[in-house]
Amino acid sequence: MNRVRVLLLNAALGPLDYRVPDGMQVEPGSIVMAPLGPRKMPGVVWEPDSFPVEEIDPKKLRPLLELRDVPPLRAPLRRLIEWTAAYYFASPASVLRMVLSSGAAFADNRPISEYRLNGSVPDRMTPQREQALEKLIGVQGTISELANKAGVSIAVIRGLEKLGVFDREDVSPFAITANPSPDFDTVDLSVDQKNVSKILIDAVRAAQFKPFLLDGVTGSGKTEVYFEAVAEALRQDKQVLVLLPEIALTEPFLDRFHARFGAEPLAWHSGMKQSERKKNWRALADGNAKVIVGARSALFLPYANLGLIIVDEAHETSFKQEDGVRYHARDVAIMRGLHEKIPVILASATPAIESQHQVEQGNYQLLELPARFGGATMPDIEALDLTEDVPPRGSWLAPTLVNALEENLERGEQSLLFLNRRGFAPLTLCRTCGHRIDCPNCTAWMVEHRLTRRLACHHCGHVMPIPEKCPECGDEDSLVACGPGVERICDEVRMLFPQARTAIVTSDTIWSPQKAADFVHQMEAGAIDIVVGTQLVTKGYHFPNLTLVGVVDADIGLEGGDLRAAERSFQQIAQVAGRAGRAEKPGRVYVQTRMPNAPVIQALIKNDREGFYAAEIEARRQALAPPFARWAAIIVSSEDNKEAMETARLIGQTAPKVDGFSVFGPAPAPLAMLRGRHRHRLLVHALRSVDLQQIMREWLEQLEWPRAVRVGVDIDPYSF
Ligand code: ADP
Ligand code: ZN
Repeated sequence: MNRVRVLLLNAALGPLDYRVPDGMQVEPGSIVMAPLGPRKMPGVVWEPDSFPVEEIDPKKLRPLLELRDVPPLRAPLRRLIEWTAAYYFASPASVLRMVLSSGAAFADNRPISEYRLNGSVPDRMTPQREQALEKLIGVQGTISELANKAGVSIAVIRGLEKLGVFDREDVSPFAITANPSPDFDTVDLSVDQKNVSKILIDAVRAAQFKPFLLDGVTGSGKTEVYFEAVAEALRQDKQVLVLLPEIALTEPFLDRFHARFGAEPLAWHSGMKQSERKKNWRALADGNAKVIVGARSALFLPYANLGLIIVDEAHETSFKQEDGVRYHARDVAIMRGLHEKIPVILASATPAIESQHQVEQGNYQLLELPARFGGATMPDIEALDLTEDVPPRGSWLAPTLVNALEENLERGEQSLLFLNRRGFAPLTLCRTCGHRIDCPNCTAWMVEHRLTRRLACHHCGHVMPIPEKCPECGDEDSLVACGPGVERICDEVRMLFPQARTAIVTSDTIWSPQKAADFVHQMEAGAIDIVVGTQLVTKGYHFPNLTLVGVVDADIGLEGGDLRAAERSFQQIAQVAGRAGRAEKPGRVYVQTRMPNAPVIQALIKNDREGFYAAEIEARRQALAPPFARWAAIIVSSEDNKEAMETARLIGQTAPKVDGFSVFGPAPAPLAMLRGRHRHRLLVHALRSVDLQQIMREWLEQLEWPRAVRVGVDIDPYSF
């Protein structure tokens, strides 16, 4: 029977059946073009009994239009797509969209002509031609690349080509110029490092599913150790995927990788040009690219022969995708490892409570690197009680911290002030009438950004000029900025130390890999004395001359009071503290707080991670919180508040009554309005013994709501 089931890229439709025209050979995984109404739609051939579809009379089946000349999606990836869709309540098509990466799969695969000098000298030389030829010695490239290199017009190079001075080579557009080589520049590992790397190398050789938690303080050599596993995969001619949480992190990582392996890995992130995206997609699908470093979306790419997955900084919250398909990249990485039958390494200095629990349960193997490499010591963390060490009026830095900054400046060492708040001030109030400036689209304050002289909403991106008078009472000069953001802390530093060279590091200033690289180079060159930054500066950087860290407000993270507030605060402060004193110079860390006795702060001061984990996991056991039970959120949104509310109420009223399955709400969501949509939320709590997804599916599938209402499901929501 030449009938096939095709998963189309159209999320609104389920899979459909088609007829395979004579002469076309397809198999499960083949990427095809199929007719859909008057249009052509990409899709993937699936197993015949995989998804339920509408019965169509065989005579009415439409024929497939085209088989794309692309490697078919392998079975482990097809299983991962099915799992992701089912687990996270997404349509299989929306997961497939991430795999095919919006058209990246359809690159033009015509070869590219490259030219290089063949040594012959043309009869008619002009001075311009002579100069151009000189600059092209040893260069290979396309006509336009050569023109660029020689600093002449394309016409000049074309003219030379006609004279026969070049040899031509037709190369695949997906060729990789240089691949990493496993033994390019190896390092001598310490005994601890060697033991750990041996276990990882064996796991790569065994080629079986095996999750590891690589746990070691910042600077203990986790990267150095997992590089050994990468090297082993390369020796086996297998591909490696390294997931990193932030684009800002990739640039220093690429440099370091290059130094170890003699070539750069392939980078995959949202900032790529479409042409780059297509080339990279094909290079990894063909197996030409060996090591891929990417953001979470790289997890769904069609690797030809993946041998290892590494999730670096695995505790990071940015691995959780919050719109579209709401998945957790760390968890999907484990599932991909399971389907591909390969090892997965989660690396972190502050592992998530869930990951530590998996170790306790015997599901992950723990690999520990106990000490900083080369004898560098962990910094001392000291709490500064803001009720005793009081900052002067209108400022935010306690006298002890100011003194420490001054000493550091005199010694010529670098300092870092951490505050997880972008902008100048988180809130703008009118002194006369008390009016607060809110975002018109969201339930959120407008944040003052003095660098751009604007108020901005951090949720929808809405910006407005800073008003000259209060929009409510009309009073002039009555608006005041309340509370500090990094820009304001930086102002304070400049007032205190006019001679200091300062830098602000947030997503407003570091918005490209190039910006991140510039920042790193400036730090390394000693051109910055004091950095003021958000959580962006807590990421994987290594600055030997950075010896003082000040946490401006340790209490911010605890305000939300949600499930993971304590865990997140602990991780963030421990990470930022880990930036201090990473080489031979010892580091100092001051944590400003109004609650010096809070368990989180105490655990940090005493460097007592085990104690903190024990208390936290026990609290969760008592509260039947994850990992002992599961949560899901149902978010109902619409531009029409009444519609959203009624749908949310309908969902609540029809909630199934099952033991171990409870539904709370609806209630207004924490961001009750977001991008102009009103949001209501229900929370689902389920014991591990019930099938959360199955119950929810049966419940929601039988309901209907107005078209304009969106119902989104967030499985294992991150914070609520
Ligand atoms: P982590 O990833 O745990 O933060 P890194 O792998 O980045 O640790 O190591 C911290 C620093 O120590 C890096 O500059 C690294 O190059 C250096 N380092 C670690 N182990 C070794 C080693 N065995 N030989 C030389 N340098 C090392
Ligand atoms: Zn907004």
